[in-house]
This record gives sequence, structure tokens and C-alpha cells, in this order.
Amino acid sequence: MTTYSLLAEIQGTPPGVPPLLVTPGFVDAHIHPDKTSWGSGWLSRSPSPLLSDLIANDLHAQLAFDDDVESRAYALMKQAVLNGTMSMRAHVDVATQLGLNNIHGVRAAADRLAPFLEVQIVAFPQFGLLSNPGTFDLMEASLAEGADLVGGIDPASVDGDLHGHVDAVFGLANKHGRDVDIHLHDTGSEGLRQLRLLAQRTVAEGMQGRVTIGHAFAVCDPQEPELPATLDAMGEAGMWMATCALGADPVPDLQLLARHGVKVALGSDGVRDAWSPFGTGSMVDRMHLLGYRTGALTDADLERCFGIATTAGAELVGSAAVRSFSGASSKDRLEFTANSIPELVVNRPGPLRVIRDGQHISL
Ligand SMILES: [Zn+2]
Repeated sequence: MTTYSLLAEIQGTPPGVPPLLVTPGFVDAHIHPDKTSWGSGWLSRSPSPLLSDLIANDLHAQLAFDDDVESRAYALMKQAVLNGTMSMRAHVDVATQLGLNNIHGVRAAADRLAPFLEVQIVAFPQFGLLSNPGTFDLMEASLAEGADLVGGIDPASVDGDLHGHVDAVFGLANKHGRDVDIHLHDTGSEGLRQLRLLAQRTVAEGMQGRVTIGHAFAVCDPQEPELPATLDAMGEAGMWMATCALGADPVPDLQLLARHGVKVALGSDGVRDAWSPFGTGSMVDRMHLLGYRTGALTDADLERCFGIATTAGAELVGSAAVRSFSGASSKDRLEFTANSIPELVVNRPGPLRVIRDGQHISL
């Protein structure tokens, strides 16, 4: 099993002075900064028993915001930076109802934070890709206007055309040489069937290691008889799973996924948007939630959560800032009051200092 305890360094301090733990930065591998109400007053939410209700509420809320995408995204991304996030993968809506406004807004916010935050943008067809005519063309256009990856959403249950959706996503990705990151909420054998299909397609396209599945709730049920074979297929395809350890949703057995070679990264998902009143944009909080929701007990369990939030995420997004960490003298690092990584995960303090390119940043 991988351990992560060498990825942080305790600084010797005089008696009576709190211990200083120096760590690499965090990676938020799945966040939606375009939808957030952060910095824009409180957003009240409607009951949403179905996924379709949540999606409809989301569009209604986005069209009703007083503050534009750039200002809300900037407020949330700045909050993330001050809490130690150095890289993020942002899923940003592309739809005929929104045009490329969200892509432009998040990219503008990212440009303002460029010295402190690496940002990948996934073009995300939240309101349907094939079922929302015109979205496919906008998705392709977004790749020339700030989007880095091609996203997707529940090809069968939301978009209503499993093979058409998968063809469209992989077709765009291959045509433009981009990676893929697909939301898949579907559970049970149907969700697992789609995951095996996506794994087959990943291998057929030669895209091993370049496809991520967001949420992938289907892999969180250990009772499903097809789970081991599905995880093997995902592992052989080098597929990633991005989990967000959300309160009401299932979480994966991290050890089981590791045994099958499925890599896991961690993200915030929606923060204070129409989908959820929760979220802080802090990956310290998020790794704590991952540990809590997965029943972390031993130091190794807690260190795994830290590793997923830092080095694993950095491998997924290719974060130079996080991957370059080599100890207390690294130019890009975080400093915390903590005795150890397990204590950091449980206590979830904010960083004392965020150091970028050798400078203590303040925003
Ligand atoms: Zn998401």
C-alpha cells in the first residue's frame, strides 16, 4: 500500500512553540466555480427529489444571479487558494441557454489568479449534450475559448443516448487531442455497465490514463456482483475516479479501488450553489470529509486521504506546483500547526501560510 508520510516535513520548534507541518499544496479535482453563490449573498434552495429537479433549479439559479460568473468564480477560487489549493479542475457549464459565458467567466477569473492557481476547465454539458440541440457545437467552440477537457453527463439517463453521447464526447476529445472527464451518477448494474463500456472505449481510443469519471456512484456498492470485473476494466484502462465525499451520496471503498488499480482524486463538487448549501472550497475540509465518510481509522487510512487530496490529484491534473514539493524548503508549500498528517486530516486547520514561488501570499 502506498503511504504518504514522507510527503510532509515536521520542522523542529523550541519547547512551547506549536509544531509546524510543511506540506505540498492541494488539488481540487472536481469543482463547479461557475455555479457558486460564493461572495454573492445567501442562495435559498427548492426541494429537489429528482436529478432532473436539481438540474432545472440549477439553470434557474444561474440565470437569476445578480453577480456575473467571473466575480463569483473569482471569490470561490480565491477562497480555495487561501486554503491551500494550488491546482483545480473546474467543470464549467456549456449550454445553449448560457452560451460560452461561463467558460469565459471562469477563464477570466483563473487568469487573475494565475500566479497562485493552475486551472483546468472541463467543458460540461450540464443541460444535455445531444438532448439540448446546439450544445455539441458550443462544446467544440469552447475548446478554442478557454476549455481544456471534454466533459459529459450520464449518457443514458440524462442525455438519453448512451452510444451517441459517448461517441460525441470521445470524438471531440480525439479530434482536438483533449482528455475526458464524465459525470456518471447512475448506480447499480446499469451504472457498472456504462463504466465497462467507457473503459472499453478508453482502451479502443488509446486514451489510457486520460479518462476520469466524476462521482461514479455505481462503484460504491460492494454488493454488486459485477463490481470486481468493472473495477478491473477501469484499472486496465487507467481510468480515474473523482469523488467528492458528499453527505447524502455513497463513497467508494478506497482500499478496494486501489487493489483493482483504479486511481482516485478528490474534489469539492458544487459549493454553495443550487445543488447544495454546503462546501467551503477548502480541500483541507474536503479531505477531512473523505476520511470521515469512508470510516478512516488508522494513520494509514488518514494519510491515504491526504495523499488523494494532494499527490494523487496532482498526478491527475499534472500540477507542477504540487508535484515539485520536496520538503520544507520547497518554493511551493503550505505550513500548518500540526504534529502529523493524520492530525492535520482530523483537526482540519487552515494553513498558517501559503507559500508560492517562495513568497507568502496574501490576496
Ligand atoms: Zn460535478
